[in-house]
Amino acid sequence: MVTARETGCLCQPINQSQGARNLRERLPLCKWRQCAYPDSASIDPEAHPGQSQAVDSADIEQLNAAIRDVPDFPKEGIVFKDITPVLGDPMLFRLAIDGLIEAIGSQRVDKIVGIDARGFIFGAAVADRIGAGLVPIRKKGKLPWRTREMSYALEYGEATVQIHEDAIREGENILLVDDLLATGGTAAAALHLVKQQGANIIGAAFFIELDFLDGRAALEQAVSGVPITALLNY
Ligand code: AMP
Repeated sequence: MVTARETGCLCQPINQSQGARNLRERLPLCKWRQCAYPDSASIDPEAHPGQSQAVDSADIEQLNAAIRDVPDFPKEGIVFKDITPVLGDPMLFRLAIDGLIEAIGSQRVDKIVGIDARGFIFGAAVADRIGAGLVPIRKKGKLPWRTREMSYALEYGEATVQIHEDAIREGENILLVDDLLATGGTAAAALHLVKQQGANIIGAAFFIELDFLDGRAALEQAVSGVPITALLNY
C-alpha cells in the first residue's frame, strides 16, 4: 500500500511545533488526490506529483450534477439547493474544498469564518486543509461566551447573528466561507461583525451563488472591496 508519506503528499500531520500560522504559505498545497481514501493502494505516485491542481470545468460539471434541487423547501416557492450528495461523496467533497481554497490565492489566512450552519462544514474543512483557525458565526443564543451581534432583514422579519467578542485579533487575515450566497444578508452581517473586530478580510468564498438574487451586489454594497468568489452559479 502506498502511503501519503511515500508519495510526498503533504496531507500528513506536519510538525505543529513549528507553530505554522498558515501551512499553505510555506508548503505546496496537496490536492489529496494521490494519497487518500477510498483506494490508496491503487495509487501511482509517479502520476501524482503532490502539487496543487486547479479545479477544472469537468470538476465543476460533476459538482453541478450532484446538487439536488428540492422544490418548496423549507417553504413554498423556495428551490432548496441540497448539498448533501456532495458531502456524502469523498471525491466531490474534496473537490468542493479544493475550489473554495482557490479563492485564497497566495494570501496568508489566519482564520476562516464559517457561518451557521452549513458554512461550518465547508469552513472547517478549508481551515484544516490550509492550517488556519476556525471562527463560527452563529444564530443568536448559540454561542456561550460574550458576543457581538448584528441583525439583518429577512423577507419577513429579522435575524441576528453573533460572534465571540475575542474570536478575531486586530489585523488577522480572514476568509469568510459559507455554503450559499442568496440575498447576501447573512454574509453581509457576518462581514460587518468581522470588520468590527479589526480583521483584514481577504475574501468571501461560497460554494454556490444564486445569481438571480443578486446577493453579490448587496454584499459589495454592504462591505465594499471584498473579493467574492463562488464555485457554482445558478
Ligand atoms: P442569504 O442571507 O439570503 O444570502 O441566505 C444565505 C443562507 O441561507 C445560506 O447560508 C444558505 O445556507 C441559506 N439558503 C438561502 N437560500 C437557499 C437555497 N435556495 N438553498 C439552500 N440554502 C439556502
